[in-house]
Amino acid sequence: SNSKTIIYNTQTCVTFIAIDEIVEDGNMKPFVPDMVFFEPDSLNYPLGETLVEHYRKLNIPVRQTTSHNQVRGIPGDTALQQYRNAKRTLVVGLKKSLKFEPSLPSAEYALPLATGCMAHCHYCYLQTTLGKKPYIRVYVNVDDILKRAEQYIQEREPEITRFDASCTSDIVGVEHITGSLKRAIEFMGKQTNGRLRFVTKFEHVDSLLDAEHNGHTRFRFSINTDYVIKYLEPGTSRMDGRMAAANKVAAAGYPLGFIVAPIIRYDGWMNDYETLFQKLKERLRYKPENDLTFELIQHRYTMTAKKIIQERYPNTQLRMEESERQKKYGRYGRVKYVYPKMQAQEIKDHITGLVHDYFPDARVEYFT
Ligand code: SF4
Repeated sequence: SNSKTIIYNTQTCVTFIAIDEIVEDGNMKPFVPDMVFFEPDSLNYPLGETLVEHYRKLNIPVRQTTSHNQVRGIPGDTALQQYRNAKRTLVVGLKKSLKFEPSLPSAEYALPLATGCMAHCHYCYLQTTLGKKPYIRVYVNVDDILKRAEQYIQEREPEITRFDASCTSDIVGVEHITGSLKRAIEFMGKQTNGRLRFVTKFEHVDSLLDAEHNGHTRFRFSINTDYVIKYLEPGTSRMDGRMAAANKVAAAGYPLGFIVAPIIRYDGWMNDYETLFQKLKERLRYKPENDLTFELIQHRYTMTAKKIIQERYPNTQLRMEESERQKKYGRYGRVKYVYPKMQAQEIKDHITGLVHDYFPDARVEYFT
């Protein structure tokens, strides 16, 4: 293959992060784990069986684990090495708790098809929420999960119930492994009152293009400036790949959205976000049925996240200075640091203005 290791360095670089999934032409290969763990029960499901055979054939080490919540034996001499290796480890198990988490403002519930992600976005909240379990978990009891979703839909009838499948993972990034997202899309296509949405930074959308979505799934791409993608989103598809994928998704008739997140202020941010919108306008081919939407999210961090980010990405370009931020109280009284009011307003005005200038027929769903 023409795959080649690209070394990312940050401007103040001491250590390098090697990302080997990126190939020379800028396209990215789908993720292949270094090691796979199976819960014994997962082998009683067709998906579990298929996966164990698949990885054995590829000569990828296959192990057993009693629970996907407690995986032992991921190699690494230091916490950092273990973290990096965990992000290259797949765990196949059963989703036992079928109580779905709320996911406002984008949806009523999170749809738990997978947990964890192989990419290395420095700001990713999974670093905090997954704690010491950053490995990638996929669940084989998809029928149970979808049956539960159906109950949640029925409870709220005649209201529409929206599910977000990307709250605990980049679900498109693992779809080539499980095919579960396609099943969820087709399931939701049949639900009068159910809607699905998810967001991705990956370009691997081909298997989803012929899904019978019936307009009930909103396919969203996370977009950002070249600076943010280059320095803060290692291991994800570049903007070109995401734009090409968005065009395929639009052609397949999905409702389409973009999440501009996290919006970060740095020297030249205003121009860079304008360049992003210019490029998107030039490249994107869409129709009214795609019902284009934008969601805008400014960068935020918690003190817990800051500590973890500084350990895992010691040379990060992500600025986290409390003196430059304002406190915002989240759920359970958790404190997040956002931009001060005036600066946040400037972000909101600037990016909303860009949406209106370049995509006058699109809708801004929210700024937060
Ligand atoms: Fe986190 Fe999404 Fe980046 Fe994966 S792609 S590391 S889920 S922000």
